[in-house]
Amino acid sequence: MSDSSFLSDSLVDRFGRMHRSLRVSVTDRCNIRCFYCMPAGPLAFLPRQEVLTYEEIARVARVATSLGIQKFRITGGEPLVRSEVWRLVDRLVCIDGVEEVALTTNGLLLAEQATQLARAGLDRINISLDTLREEIFERIARHRGLYRVLDGIAAAQDAGFTKIRLNALSIRGLTEEDIVPLAAYAFERGLELRFIEFMPLDADESWKTERVLSGDAVRAVIEDTYGPMIPVTRQDPSQPAVDFEFADRPGRIGFINPVTAPFCGDCDRLRLTAEGQIRNCLFSTREWDLRSLLREGEIDDAELAAQFAAAVTEKKAGHVIDTPAFLRPERAMYQIGG
Ligand code: SAM
Ligand code: SF4
Repeated sequence: MSDSSFLSDSLVDRFGRMHRSLRVSVTDRCNIRCFYCMPAGPLAFLPRQEVLTYEEIARVARVATSLGIQKFRITGGEPLVRSEVWRLVDRLVCIDGVEEVALTTNGLLLAEQATQLARAGLDRINISLDTLREEIFERIARHRGLYRVLDGIAAAQDAGFTKIRLNALSIRGLTEEDIVPLAAYAFERGLELRFIEFMPLDADESWKTERVLSGDAVRAVIEDTYGPMIPVTRQDPSQPAVDFEFADRPGRIGFINPVTAPFCGDCDRLRLTAEGQIRNCLFSTREWDLRSLLREGEIDDAELAAQFAAAVTEKKAGHVIDTPAFLRPERAMYQIGG
C-alpha cells in the first residue's frame, strides 16, 4: 500500500524539535579517500543488493514528506559515482510537499553531470572544496583531482545553478593558508562559502581536538585580510551555519562549528543511510531499519512511518563531542552520509 495521506506532522521530538530535512545517502562508495572520512587501507563497500534502489528511496521519501519532511539532500559517499543519480532527483522533485532537493558532492564528476542534474530540477549543489592547492588536495583526498573539482564548479555555474555553496573543512596545521584564497575564490564567482569544523567521524580515528581549526580562528584570519565581520540574524534557525557579513564591504561567509559551538538545539535533520537505515543524528548509536520492511512484501506505509516516529522519539538532546561522555559512532562519515 502506498496511501500515506493520513499521516501528518508527527516528527516532533521530546525537545520540541520539528524535523523537516532528510539527508539521503545513495552510496558508501567514493572516487577519492579524504583522510577525515575514509580509511587509508582497503575497505569493503556495501554489496549492490544491500543498497536501496531509487524506487525504494522514492517510496521512503513519499512517507517522509507525508510526515512533514520538506527538504532532501542527496549525499554519500560520493553521490555522483552512483549511476544516473539525476533520475533520483527527478523522482524526488515530483513528490507533493517537497520544497527543496539539494546534493552534496566532491565535484570530481560534476562537469559531466551538471546539465542533467539541472534539467532534473535539482535546486541546490553543495561542493566540498577545502583547498585551492593541488598538493594539499592530494594530501587530504589521497588522490589528485583539484582541477576536476574546479571544472565541476564552473560547469555547475554554466548549467544555470544559482544556489551553489562551497563547503571547506578546516584542519589545523593543514588548511590555514587556504582560508583567504578560498574566500577570494568564492567572492569572485559569487558563490556561498562555509567553513566546517573537523568532527570525530573519520574511519581511521585520527581526530584530535588539536586538529580542529575552529570557526572563530578561521574568521580571525579572514578579518585580518578583509576587515571586521558581524553576525547576520538567522532567518532559519535550523541552518547549522552562523553567517557573518563584513562591516564595510560586501561578502558573506558561513561557519559551521559543531565542535566549538554545537547547534543541536535547533536540529531538524534525519538521515537515511545507503542501505536504508534511519539515523536521528550523525552521532546516533542506533538505527531504525527501513530496508527489511521495504523488502518484506506488501507492507503498509504506516509501518515505515512508525520507524521514523520511533527514531525521532529517541533522538537525544545533542552530541557531546570533546567531552568524556562522547561515544564515537560505529560508522564513519562515508557510511552515514554527510
Ligand atoms: N562526497 C561528498 C562530499 O565530499 O561532498 C558528499 C559526502 S561527504 C561525507 C559530505 C561532507 O562531509 C563533505 O563536505 C565533507 O567535507 C564532510 N565531512 C567528511 N568527513 C568529515 C568530518 N570528519 N568532519 C566534518 N565534516 C566531514
Ligand atoms: Fe569521499 Fe566525500 Fe568522504 Fe571525501 S568526504 S572521502 S569525497 S565521501
